[in-house]
Amino acid sequence: MRSLMALSFLSFLAWAVVASLAIAILLGMSASGHADGDHKRVMILHSVGREFRPWNVYAKDIRAELDRQTRWPIDVQEHSLVAARSGDPRAEELFVEYIKALYVGAPPDLIVSIGAPSAAFFQRRRKDLFPTTPIVFTVLEDRRVQYSNLTENDTVVSARNDFRFLFESYLGIAPDTKIIAIINGNSPNEQFWQGELRRELKPLEDRIEIRWYDKLSYEDTLKQTASLPPHSAIFWYQMVVDAAGVAHEGDRARWSISESRLSPDSTIYFREPTAWEQYSWQIASIVAVILIQAGLISVLLREHRRRQLAEVQARQRMAELAHVNRFSTAGELTASIAHEINQPLGSIMTNAETANAILKSPTPDIAELKDIVNDILLDDRRAAEVIRRMRSLLKKAPFELKNIDLNDLVRETVEFLSSLAVGRKFELVSLTTQNALPILGDRIQLQQVILNLVVNGIDAMRDTPGENRIISVRTSRVENSAQLSVSDRGSGIPEDKLEKVFAPFFTSKAEGMGMGLSIAHTIIEAHHGLISAKNRDHGGATFRIKLPLVGVG
Ligand code: ADP
Repeated sequence: MRSLMALSFLSFLAWAVVASLAIAILLGMSASGHADGDHKRVMILHSVGREFRPWNVYAKDIRAELDRQTRWPIDVQEHSLVAARSGDPRAEELFVEYIKALYVGAPPDLIVSIGAPSAAFFQRRRKDLFPTTPIVFTVLEDRRVQYSNLTENDTVVSARNDFRFLFESYLGIAPDTKIIAIINGNSPNEQFWQGELRRELKPLEDRIEIRWYDKLSYEDTLKQTASLPPHSAIFWYQMVVDAAGVAHEGDRARWSISESRLSPDSTIYFREPTAWEQYSWQIASIVAVILIQAGLISVLLREHRRRQLAEVQARQRMAELAHVNRFSTAGELTASIAHEINQPLGSIMTNAETANAILKSPTPDIAELKDIVNDILLDDRRAAEVIRRMRSLLKKAPFELKNIDLNDLVRETVEFLSSLAVGRKFELVSLTTQNALPILGDRIQLQQVILNLVVNGIDAMRDTPGENRIISVRTSRVENSAQLSVSDRGSGIPEDKLEKVFAPFFTSKAEGMGMGLSIAHTIIEAHHGLISAKNRDHGGATFRIKLPLVGVG
């Protein structure tokens, strides 16, 4: 089956330009005659609807051309003669009233009539409707103009259809065509053309079979034309209103015919360009942007994963280092721990010997013995507690944040260090706030930070005379954070080293590792806190830690 897509409206293509020229001339004339020459009202009247193809395309072109060519601001109002679909005279009467009401007191300066029904309407009602306003009748076939009825204010830009010539030309290029199916709707205007087509094509009937579909609905027409035999062609003239009385705006049926079935030298008009044809470079750049973005996102995701992995590894390493560091701190504590354990062991021994002596007497004092046994139990618990604390410090535990009270932690750590204070001959002062300081923290790691700071303080007070060997640990609440400070009265930190002390491997000690403060810094960062060092006014250093309080702000 061949498809004939010849459009008799082809010549309308040029009309947009012709019509707009006429409009420009008319506007030029009226400009001299009107007082309010800087504002023009243009009325466009469509025949069956504003969105009917291809008329809507012509109207759009005319409007665009008007805008382009005029010097004045123009106020365009578009209407459609809906009455043209049915041709009911009552509807037309009401429509005239409606248009009059719309323009009461301010008639349009120019009327553009689109299509034959609209032209017929104006020619019928010229006397009632703006008789002095110039009208351009356009987008219509010559046969639809009543030339005898035209007034001096009317301009016609029309085309001429020659169906017989069109069909014969087609048969010239497709001589084996046997059937031509003619699609034309059933509105009054379409019925007129039905008659014209039949009349003009009659001489061809001995050469080809012509099939008419004007008594069918749009859907039935599509169905029937889909099963046409080979060597058939379809002539789609128009389908405004089908036989079922349904109006059709678009040209859906026309363009579902594959282009590959056209003869190679065909030219296609009025085809809606595909999105790709219309916006190829925009689509290409959007796709490019999306691809680049996708690439960037995947790189970022990979980077993010890599960083997460690195963070996990760093934290693991930090935990391992911290563990090693705790061992070295434990080394510092060994002497005092030995001392702390020796004390209860010594008194256990003394108490045991005393009990032994009492038991040897013929009348052992049972009450005394009870007291001794109680003392032995207490001392044993003391020794066991020292060992428990030491073990918990040296435990290789994973980093785990829990709800703790910073004050509790400080008190516990200071107690743990009390024997160190005795052994290393310094005074350990602690001052905690009255109210609890709830934080999210890892008990062992924070304890380790305090231990490191205190041990550093002791080291710094190597040359400090006896009565001044004081380390104070204080807590306070500043706005939404809990603060902890460890101050000593030692050598202090050279001003240019205040920042560097937290760097790994920075040490001023002969046997130092330079890891204590770096680990403290890492631990505090993992707690979303801050650690800083400052020298005190009268000698010594203060390390201050700020941790976010839980359940505030
Ligand atoms: P180390 O104690 O092994 O040197 P740290 O990281 O704990 O490692 O400390 C780094 C350096 O910071 C110390 O060598 C010392 O110079 C300085 N420092 C730390 N704490 C104090 C302090 N309280 N007073 C003076 N200097 C200190």
